[in-house]
Amino acid sequence: MKYKRIHNFNPGPAALPLPVLEQIRDEILNYKGTGMSILETSHRSKTFDEIINEAIERTKRLLNLGNQFHVIFVQGGASLQFAMVPMNLSVDGKSVDYINTGTWSTKAIKEARIQKKEVRVIASSEDENFSYIPQDVHEDGKGAYLHFTSNNTIKGTQWTTFPDGGGVPLVSDMSSDFMSRVFDPSPFGLIYAGAQKNIGPAGVAMVIIREDMLERVPQDLPTMLKYTTYVENNSLANTPPCFAIYVINLVLKWLEEEIGGLKKMEEINREKAKLIYDIIDSSDFYKGTARKDSRSMMNITFRLPSEELEELFVKEALKEGLGGLKGHRSVGGCRASLYNAVTLDSVKALAEFMRHFEKKYG
Ligand SMILES: *Cc1c(COP(=O)(O)O)cnc(C)c1O
Repeated sequence: MKYKRIHNFNPGPAALPLPVLEQIRDEILNYKGTGMSILETSHRSKTFDEIINEAIERTKRLLNLGNQFHVIFVQGGASLQFAMVPMNLSVDGKSVDYINTGTWSTKAIKEARIQKKEVRVIASSEDENFSYIPQDVHEDGKGAYLHFTSNNTIKGTQWTTFPDGGGVPLVSDMSSDFMSRVFDPSPFGLIYAGAQKNIGPAGVAMVIIREDMLERVPQDLPTMLKYTTYVENNSLANTPPCFAIYVINLVLKWLEEEIGGLKKMEEINREKAKLIYDIIDSSDFYKGTARKDSRSMMNITFRLPSEELEELFVKEALKEGLGGLKGHRSVGGCRASLYNAVTLDSVKALAEFMRHFEKKYG
């Protein structure tokens, strides 16, 4: 290989599977004998139709989605979904219910309030700086939906068992742990995920929407802000982010065929996270910032004894070929993002570096 690749712990855009990058490279000038790049191919072509349909079918198989679910691709990232969810799924006379577990939930709540929806925050972990997942969730059944963030990318917390919606459809921002583990999709009215954490490149969000939710979509919304537009046109009402969808399909293929599905992926992700949490737990040098029962398998957040040491940690790690370990600018500290594409070998290299660094400076 011409360039040495690092062990990539970036929070997003984040690591992609090497076999996927290699296939993109091999196909970039001439996609499957068409004599042109996929970047140059019409979104109205049979070639692209096959790609988008394959991506949708793979998603349905991987998540075990029944026929009542539609898979669509929407530009504008997860952040546009913060606005589209209340715009499309609120119901007259009902509140829209949220659980606040950090930065991204807070932003989702803000977008519902901007639209003057009746927002109820029915649980929050703000009292302890979002370091845990609230257990006392009481949905009284009166909400139009209950929104939560399945994995809190910045604070390093994750729902182990999803909240009980009490019959109210769940809506979840799964951007940073989408396709990382097995879950039951049936209580969900809608799931969305920005692709750039776990399933592909930036530029698109995948949205899974249950058939009955479509009845709620108001007729008078702008065309491109209605979920129905995407469902009715198989995400091809206008030019979609073709390249991003092509890469997503390759990542899903890798997940199905090389990893062997979500159950296998979850096992690997558990093993990866354990390697790092074991170090944190057996050390006084590293301190995890999330409460133990709420820890994320995807984003491991930790502190060192001083900010100087944290800075040195990030710098020396990079010298050893370990990148992306700086914590989010809003919280400081360190963060290792162990998304699906981060290999067990990369995590072992990080574990070894952490032990070595503690020995040297601890
Ligand atoms: C990164 C992230 C977002 C923001 O995604 P964009 O695609 O940049 O809008 C939202 N929610 C979660 C949980 C994230 O990790």
